[in-house]
Amino acid sequence: MRVFFIGFGQAGGKIVDMFLAQDKKLGSTSFRGIVINTARTDLMGVKYIPMEDRLLIGQTMVKGHGVGTDNVTGAKVAADEIDTIINAIDKRGTHDVDAFVVCAGLGGGTGSGGAPVLCRHLKRIYREPVYALGIIPAPEEGRLYSLNAARSLSTLVNEADNVIVFDNSAWKNDGESVKSAFDRLNEEIVRRFGVLFRAGEVNKFGVGEMVVDSSEIINTLRGGGISSVGYAISEAIPKGGRSSSKSGGGLLGGLLGKKDKRQEPHIDITSSEDKSAKIIGLVRRAMLGRLTLPCDYSTAERALVLVAGPPTELDRKGVEKSKSWVEENIAGVEVRGGDYPVDSGYVAAVVLLATIGNAPRIRELMELAKEAKEEVVRSRERATSSMFEDGIDPLFE
Ligand code: GDP
Repeated sequence: MRVFFIGFGQAGGKIVDMFLAQDKKLGSTSFRGIVINTARTDLMGVKYIPMEDRLLIGQTMVKGHGVGTDNVTGAKVAADEIDTIINAIDKRGTHDVDAFVVCAGLGGGTGSGGAPVLCRHLKRIYREPVYALGIIPAPEEGRLYSLNAARSLSTLVNEADNVIVFDNSAWKNDGESVKSAFDRLNEEIVRRFGVLFRAGEVNKFGVGEMVVDSSEIINTLRGGGISSVGYAISEAIPKGGRSSSKSGGGLLGGLLGKKDKRQEPHIDITSSEDKSAKIIGLVRRAMLGRLTLPCDYSTAERALVLVAGPPTELDRKGVEKSKSWVEENIAGVEVRGGDYPVDSGYVAAVVLLATIGNAPRIRELMELAKEAKEEVVRSRERATSSMFEDGIDPLFE
């Protein structure tokens, strides 16, 4: 799928930078994108995106210093300068893209406020679907972040064609601060979505036996709302039968990534039955393991199953059986899927759970936001009533 990424704000910018760096490393041209910010220093911190694709907005209002965590100002700046933003996107080329993906940290100011505004305008102007990849803050980041994220997410679900959520708190380790985990979390994000969005891409291994093309991703996400993604990998077995974990190089070698130490021990298997069982096991682990947004998977309306790996490992029966298993376990009946041959020492399964009906973390986020809003009102009342309560008339109204 050819994706146009827009990184809005600091988190969004860093992630889009990594998507494009991955594309370059793989010698692929599936991804393109620009980054937008109100803070000049954040734009300078981006590594791979060329200078002409970094857009500074809000200069008259905030003079390149950013909007802090004020997402109302973030939204205003984006709305005021929407023509400049759309021009920058057009200049980068949009005629052959299959979808737009707007990436942003929803707890901050620039991306949190700007992403919903941009999604609205992209949808108005282009026929291609517009998705948001939204990062929600951990509760420990403070209630203001939760309030920002709750407002941004509630707006985004009405403005984007689907919001795929990544939850920082689900992904940081115990005892680790959210900030120190950013690089690792971003790698997780880029790995999962890199594999998902590349499905159907033609490479030197040809196309898969059961190709997942962009229309299937688009149809899976058609229901709107919020979605979550699961991922699992296992070592591939080369023809000789020994594990090939050291030969992870090649054209797409870096794409699937390293095996998580916490995953099950590897078992050598070579027959078709075994390959099929391995794929089913991988898909189960992807769906039942850690999702980008922890949720009740049984409430998903649609799903997409993608198995990526060396062609010798991709077993049609395994993919079909996995699809049936996913279908038995989600609310809806639409499960799409296929394979994606890549040069890698690993086999990976990606499960996209679309239009989820129940995610406790979203409820928690909304609760925290409600408390934060009440606290803001109370403290404003306290501040004004304590000093100015003796009825002196103001000079003018
Ligand atoms: P903005 O520049 O005003 O849009 O604000 P940020 O992009 O810094 O958004 C703040 C939110 O994004 C907070 O919840 C941060 O925890 C989160 N965040 C900031 N940088 C990163 C990052 O590199 N990775 C991840 N996963 N989250 C980030």
